[in-house]
Amino acid sequence: MSRFLTPDQIDTAQRLILNAERILVTTHKSPDGDAIGSALAMHHFLLSLGKKPVTVLPDAAPDFLHWVSLYDQCVVAEEQPEKAAEVIGNADLIFSLDYNHLPRTGDSVCAMLEKSSAPFILIDHHQQPGEFPQVTYSDTTACSTCEMVFRFIEQCGWKGHLNKDIAACIYLGIMTDSGSFRFHTVSYDTHRIAGELIALGLDHSEIHRNVYDTNLMDKLKLIGYALSEKLVVMPEHATAFISLEKEELLRYNYKQGDTEGLVNQALSIRGIKLAAFFREGNNEIKTSFRSKGMFDVNQFSRSHWEGGGHMNAAGGRSGDSMETTLTRFRELTIRYSSQINAS
Ligand code: 5GP
Ligand code: MN
Repeated sequence: MSRFLTPDQIDTAQRLILNAERILVTTHKSPDGDAIGSALAMHHFLLSLGKKPVTVLPDAAPDFLHWVSLYDQCVVAEEQPEKAAEVIGNADLIFSLDYNHLPRTGDSVCAMLEKSSAPFILIDHHQQPGEFPQVTYSDTTACSTCEMVFRFIEQCGWKGHLNKDIAACIYLGIMTDSGSFRFHTVSYDTHRIAGELIALGLDHSEIHRNVYDTNLMDKLKLIGYALSEKLVVMPEHATAFISLEKEELLRYNYKQGDTEGLVNQALSIRGIKLAAFFREGNNEIKTSFRSKGMFDVNQFSRSHWEGGGHMNAAGGRSGDSMETTLTRFRELTIRYSSQINAS
């Protein structure tokens, strides 16, 4: 794992890209700003190299990401499964962006990718990448996959191909995954890259507006309800959590992405070091964890919630009812109380 690709990796990546004719770009299920940003940055970059890439998304992105250039040309596998199977089956090179294991693309896309004999190039900042790619560019210290896509292009010697569209996509992922440049993962290199993107003519302020200033009233009311009625604080365990059941989500016309960032509100309480958010979905409860300091929510999520992520931001799922899930979470906070408090 390193900020730098090895000379061998650069040779292999260049050769694979230059020789490929049907390049596929993929990212994880429930795509966020870094997933859409890295996939479409790569897509725009491959176009600038004269390639004809196709981007497959396992499912649609939330509305606040639909403005991204070329989003409307992505093949959404959930909506067009046959088309997705066809382009995945035909690919002679596959980019895996912002995910470390094929199952992160969801059951259906994962099965299609597993059947492919094409080589994979992985660019990702999650821990413990799988063994499947020919080129694995993994840097768990990077604030975002988008930052790594910039470095990948730079280290391959193709910086001259960067343009305003690529810049907008890369900035989007850096901004959303770094909490607008606030997390520990933000480095000198993050700001250098952001500076270079602005030098390309990027309107960074417009990207902040597109993502953060396009809320609908229903979303704000749902957040207001969650914070005033559903926030539970356990000061003795330095923990706070919020849960939302289906009926509550429906009441506020919930749309995918509406609760993004809600878990951070719980974490922002003074003295709180672990925050969790539980959202009832169709067949399972989606869990989100955030921590301040040394409590490792990646490990917590791997061990107890069939998930993973990063040290301070992770997610997973529960197959139990909401009541059982919350009871289990309360028991775990008691078990881990000293580690949470110590962090
Ligand atoms: P979020 O809470 O925003 O859904 O996710 C936070 C972080 O955890 C993200 O970096 C995401 O990639 C990771 N993550 C979320 N859900 C899962 C999951 O089900 N499995 C794994 N391995 N990682 C997840
Ligand atoms: Mn990411």
